[in-house]
Amino acid sequence: MTRPLLAPQDFRTLASRAADEAARFLEGLDGRAIFPETSGATTQALFGGDCPEQGLGPTAFDQLRDVFAHSRAHNARFLGYVLGPGEPVGAIGDFLASVINQNVTSWRSAPSAVTIERTVVSWLARAIGCEGFTGSLMGGGSAANLLGLAMAREAKAPANQHGARPGTVYASQQVHLSISKAVALLGLGRDNLRLIPVDERFRILPAELEKAIQRDVAAGLRPIAIVGCAGTVNTGAVDPLDALAELAKRYDTWLHVDGAYGALAAMTVPERFKGLDQADSLSLDGHKWLYQPVDCGCALFRDAGAARAAFSDTSDYVRVLSDDPVEGFAFFEESFELSRRFRALKVWLSLRYHGLGAFRDAIRDDLDCAEHLVARVSAHPELELLARGDLSAVCFRHRPEGASEAELDAHNAALLKRLVRRGRVYLSNARIHGHFALRACVTNFRSTREDMDAVIDEILAAARG
Ligand SMILES: *Cc1c(COP(=O)(O)O)cnc(C)c1O
Repeated sequence: MTRPLLAPQDFRTLASRAADEAARFLEGLDGRAIFPETSGATTQALFGGDCPEQGLGPTAFDQLRDVFAHSRAHNARFLGYVLGPGEPVGAIGDFLASVINQNVTSWRSAPSAVTIERTVVSWLARAIGCEGFTGSLMGGGSAANLLGLAMAREAKAPANQHGARPGTVYASQQVHLSISKAVALLGLGRDNLRLIPVDERFRILPAELEKAIQRDVAAGLRPIAIVGCAGTVNTGAVDPLDALAELAKRYDTWLHVDGAYGALAAMTVPERFKGLDQADSLSLDGHKWLYQPVDCGCALFRDAGAARAAFSDTSDYVRVLSDDPVEGFAFFEESFELSRRFRALKVWLSLRYHGLGAFRDAIRDDLDCAEHLVARVSAHPELELLARGDLSAVCFRHRPEGASEAELDAHNAALLKRLVRRGRVYLSNARIHGHFALRACVTNFRSTREDMDAVIDEILAAARG
């Protein structure tokens, strides 16, 4: 019988080879097509084969070239979605986390890892002005939003024992789909998610929110939670969080802030996030504006007791055998996850290597790039700015002279396809007041003002066909 054993000296050889290939990938990033020349049939042919019964040995690594070749190149002009480029020191952290393979359930299971994660979480909380909040790293903003709303439900309409009861949740019309997913999963029902109108800059209107709450209270419904957006995914709008906090207090609801896109920018421009520290829970995404490799979500909450009320259900086999505040700590008592990987290692290495100040500055540069792009778009007769939020997302479109409104959607959709196919710039799209918009979102420590100029040049080139 063979077993999957690897001698340490062979590990060293393979790992050096992987490091070489990774470094080559990073060196070549700017010269690569930003989206690979590929197709579904091609990737299926390359990667759809059967699992070998007999090991291939080191030649198994040969096909890594294909994996790299059919991947997106997150260079300085990758501005699609909301996504960081993957900070390489963080990537080394991910590699090492897998090698030491700690299961970050409790201190008893992973002493250094649990302590480092709690430290990193407290660093992030303090960095965004939420000193004293605790929490954990998760797969992403979606998981962190679900965790926050599960806490809200248990705090305001307890359901763990007897099942969910009706309750209403409030968020702006611009809220991310992960919120409606969470409301559905928690058994509250999407019909009970109230989508509140926004102002001309896509921020929730508190007066409309209050009216909706009053209507529901009058109808005998129980408002459970208000969800504030700290950076909407389309335009980067930041809701007036302090006004939401007031309403949450007045109507005894939970305040959850979806900060998956924007909350980390509070370490650079805290004045745009007034009220963030009054949230009961919030999500942020290290794989977005902390530039970390996916995955690196983070859930933060003010009251760990509320987290334990929602998630502690300790069976004997995981019971922690210590009262010591460090040694007795278990993440699974404050989260719906049990087995968890050592996500904190990448953040810890990356923040210690570069220093928090480097990230603060990089976010400032991203905001500056977005300003520069807005200025360039506004100054160009064939470009039209469609939306400018509070952060680094810019929505605009190409508007050739004489084009009718009806033609513009199809024109810009086709332009975006050509732009991406040209290989130098990657944007995504959004719908703004019903119009198809090109959307650039700068959460990229590689981007500079020159890259924004290149975006404009490429768009105009792609517009010419
Ligand atoms: C990205 C994002 C999410 C979801 O986060 P994932 O990490 O993709 O799960 C939620 N809300 C907002 C505003 C986002 O930008």
